[in-house]
Amino acid sequence: MEKILVSACLLGENTRYDGKNNYFPFIEKLRVHYDIVPFCPEVEAGLSIPRVPAEISHGSVITKDGKDVTKLYNAAAEKALQLCRLLNIKTAILKDRSPACGPRNIHDGSFNGNVIEGHGITAHYLIKNGVKVYCETDNLSFLLPEEKPVEKKEVTVEKKEPIERKEPRKTFKKPYKKTFSKDHKDFKKDGKKPFHKFPKKKNFRRVKKDV
Ligand code: SF4
Repeated sequence: MEKILVSACLLGENTRYDGKNNYFPFIEKLRVHYDIVPFCPEVEAGLSIPRVPAEISHGSVITKDGKDVTKLYNAAAEKALQLCRLLNIKTAILKDRSPACGPRNIHDGSFNGNVIEGHGITAHYLIKNGVKVYCETDNLSFLLPEEKPVEKKEVTVEKKEPIERKEPRKTFKKPYKKTFSKDHKDFKKDGKKPFHKFPKKKNFRRVKKDV
């Protein structure tokens, strides 16, 4: 099964500087199809939980109380890269805006909540070495295998060729049944054709025909 490196705090682990997490439920869907490898660069760097927050300023990682922790962040990024190489990880989903993880944006170093475009230290290492790095705000649905559409079976109707008839079709007529009136006997006697007696109807007019 393919492996994906994921920021530990996105998985619900309380590794943030304030002891909280950034749980990202979408990862649960990925668990079905991938081996999820959690990684927190700041914890790997040996920093405590909770800890003083840090931001990148002029290429260095500086804590809010002014301590330069760049070396620790670089060491953690190196560990992340080694892990990716060891486990053949080619994809990572990292928390955006973090000075370690952020693959799209980071804070500007003023600790005022300002965000600028840029990479966290670990994200930068991984991107530079060919790992595809995404963040939780990206559309990650492409990582889920497509559901196969139900194949529709085509119904084909065989065309039957018309049967050629050599002889014309015989039609059978119902034999005409002659009905005669009671006067039929009289017809035999005097040789005259009797009138056919129709059923009596109101306003019915008998029309004589010449024999
Ligand atoms: Fe989360 Fe990355 Fe910060 Fe660790 S370093 S808490 S994984 S954003």
